[in-house]
Amino acid sequence: MDLTIQQNCPSCGAEIELHEADRLIRCPYCDVQNFMVSRGVLRFILPDKAPKHINRRDMFYAPYLRFKGNIYYCKGKFQKYKLVDTTQQGMNTGVLPPSLGLRPQAMPVSLVTADIEGVFLRQTVKARTLLERAAQLTVIDSENIRAPFYHRAYIGETLSCIYLPLYIEDGVLFDAVTNKALASGGSSENMASRGERYRRSWTPHFLATLCPRCGDALEGERDSLVLSCHNCHSSWEERRGDFRSIDWECVNGGSNTVYHLPFWKLQVRSTGKDMESFADFLRVTNQPRVIMARHRTMNLIFWIPAFKLRPSTFLRLGRTATLSQEKIPRGKAEMGKNMHPVTLQRKEAVQALKSVIAAAALNKRKLLPVLPEMSLHPISTVLSYLPFVDQGHDFVQEQTGISVAKSVLRFGRKL
Ligand SMILES: [Zn+2]
Ligand SMILES: [Zn+2]
Repeated sequence: MDLTIQQNCPSCGAEIELHEADRLIRCPYCDVQNFMVSRGVLRFILPDKAPKHINRRDMFYAPYLRFKGNIYYCKGKFQKYKLVDTTQQGMNTGVLPPSLGLRPQAMPVSLVTADIEGVFLRQTVKARTLLERAAQLTVIDSENIRAPFYHRAYIGETLSCIYLPLYIEDGVLFDAVTNKALASGGSSENMASRGERYRRSWTPHFLATLCPRCGDALEGERDSLVLSCHNCHSSWEERRGDFRSIDWECVNGGSNTVYHLPFWKLQVRSTGKDMESFADFLRVTNQPRVIMARHRTMNLIFWIPAFKLRPSTFLRLGRTATLSQEKIPRGKAEMGKNMHPVTLQRKEAVQALKSVIAAAALNKRKLLPVLPEMSLHPISTVLSYLPFVDQGHDFVQEQTGISVAKSVLRFGRKL
């Protein structure tokens, strides 16, 4: 399920339609690009059809938490994953529907803005609890595996809040989307005491997409988390409300290069389980190759896809790129052609480290039980774009031969 969001252009005010993953917003009317920055979760509101005589200040908005993402887990000798897409009540009450059902799919939502005058009921269910419940689904899914959990990670997830509009008339509480009665005997005063008015920090703000270094226009696609300046060859991500430059490189391919896919190249320090070099990684994951002296001098570096993919492909690319890193030459900070947008944040890649180790392990029965003692700390990151050639249905990485189906890349943009 993907949300459709109705939003006014921050530059000219025209109404435009966004997808949930969109960050770079290009207005078709004024042609201005803005980058959306949120503090905390994005908050949306379902459109209401409350009768005209209901005062807007007397409306109530009940929070529902939406989680969409992949849960990766290791249990016994198995590595598994599950896509979870769920919307649940953000407060514990039997009066409201337990979930929004199909409504968020069926109608466009809007971002919560200052012109919403009603009372927002307080969220009393913690996001953590929702994640725990989502994880319970994976427990049910795997209950025939009678072995302990060794690891669990949420990778590439989005957590947002969707408000259901409500109103009270003659002591009866109504769902303002359907105008159906939900309960009677409540009072507006009591409801209002459990809520608060709009807060400014709930609304995202927008950054002008100009290169902070040279002033040229930054480029990206609508779901890009990293923007590029093709004039001064710099890459930018948003952190604490501003664009900050990141270390990046583009690896040179041959004359047949048609596409570049981004990877987070994470140098990691490990404590707990002794894994200091690439040689240790090969040993711990039981790779069938001779460990050479040069492997002992190589830092422990993981190559994690910097874009969303279905779990099986994500793990395969992370595993194979990490294992074949010796074949990949150093790149240069020079823009290449056709660069796939970065749609997975660096911190998500850090979340994925143990899952990639698990995926690389040939003897899972032996390795998975030691995952809990491993502690991995990223010490440096480079965003690295790798060159691919076109081979019909697949793109194939030039130095390593890693392939990825074009259809899988398109599907990943919808995750
Ligand atoms: Zn506009
Ligand atoms: Zn620039």
